[in-house]
Amino acid sequence: MNIYEEIELQECPYCQGPGILEEEEGWCWYVMCMDCGAKTGECGYKSEEESAKAARSAAHLWNIGKVIRSDRCE
Ligand SMILES: [Zn+2]
Repeated sequence: MNIYEEIELQECPYCQGPGILEEEEGWCWYVMCMDCGAKTGECGYKSEEESAKAARSAAHLWNIGKVIRSDRCE
């Protein structure tokens, strides 16, 4: 199973840019906007099994708009 193919991401709620699913050092997943850098909180996991669940949680947060905007451009 390829988690990247399974998960569908909406466009960024701030700029309509493309969201990408990212894994951090083998302990959490989050989704980040490639254009403005807005991102979801990190969804941590402790096992291979939890990993897929955490990836789906991160995607869900993104898709419902629970996204934190970075202050980079202000
Ligand atoms: Zn964006």
